[in-house]
Amino acid sequence: MSQNLINLYSDTQTKPSLEMRQAIANADVGDEQQEVDPTTNQLQNMVAELLGKEAALFLPSGVMCNQIAVKVWTNPGEEIILHETAHIVNFESGGAAALSGTMSQNLTGERGMFTADQVRDALRPKGRHHPVQSLLAVENTANLGGGAIWPVDQIQAVCDVAHESGLKTHLDGARLLNAVVASGTPASAYAAPFDSLWIDLSKGLGCPVGGVLAGSRDFINDAFRYKHMYGGAMRQSGIIAAAGVYALENNIDRMQDDHENARHFADLLGDIPGIDVPDANIETNMVYFDVSGTGLSAADVSARLLDKGVKIGATSDTRLRAVTHLDVSRDHISAAATALREVCEAAG
Ligand SMILES: *Cc1c(COP(=O)(O)O)cnc(C)c1O
Repeated sequence: MSQNLINLYSDTQTKPSLEMRQAIANADVGDEQQEVDPTTNQLQNMVAELLGKEAALFLPSGVMCNQIAVKVWTNPGEEIILHETAHIVNFESGGAAALSGTMSQNLTGERGMFTADQVRDALRPKGRHHPVQSLLAVENTANLGGGAIWPVDQIQAVCDVAHESGLKTHLDGARLLNAVVASGTPASAYAAPFDSLWIDLSKGLGCPVGGVLAGSRDFINDAFRYKHMYGGAMRQSGIIAAAGVYALENNIDRMQDDHENARHFADLLGDIPGIDVPDANIETNMVYFDVSGTGLSAADVSARLLDKGVKIGATSDTRLRAVTHLDVSRDHISAAATALREVCEAAG
């Protein structure tokens, strides 16, 4: 069954294509730690240029990109301002507290976003009783926000408030290129207000592993020290960087298909009794939907779908999240919606 599985669980579940595997096999390699791995250097230069930053650093994961940025920009006891749904808060094993000794002030707001006024309200008076606030972090697209895209003006406004108070700004851009493709806004325009940011290679870009962190030359020099400290410095990393080079050259524009498939899936769900798509504004590659009306729990629906060869994860007792990516075709979308309809009808 796994051969024919329609996998909408996550865009992390893509498998490297034959062409990507050929690029991997043919990669020119050297010692990354001596900065003589040509393919890693090429990938880093491509990402620095794409994001309009001085330099970039290839890392084994997106989590490490976030954690190193937090480490560079903060001291123990200092505070990060970010959204309550942020990946840094919820899905990084408490790393910011464990590795950097930071606390966080978690803002609320629709679709994973907050406003400049909220940041202003979150600023503390300066004084020895208060934690020093050193970093503002934004996630674009906002994962738990439904793959929502931050408006550029709003990004600029929240970063301006942070910078005026001496905070640094960091963008978790795991899916920034989804925002770029969907909105037509250049990556460098989204990146400009941030002191550091990164993109994931192992989500919609379809690579097996890796993220690339970018910023000023000084920032990247500091980041390389922590890459080594955290055990993320590699050797002939061109073998995996080659997948990233291939993906940047071939897999960005095609994410438009993923977005169309997500919208199509949401449309099909809208016709299934018992299913509710609470946020019909599908901007990128995610569809969160509520199954309360079916009388089944989200976990039950997920299990019954899996029996029919469709993998969609439950994100709460009542909700599931479907994510489109390059291994999901339009036919898969129709088949997945049909399977969901059958599950709902059998229950009701
Ligand atoms: C997936 C993800 C990460 C972590 O990236 P990994 O490459 O899986 O470590 C961080 N932030 C967001 C928003 C993500 O979706």
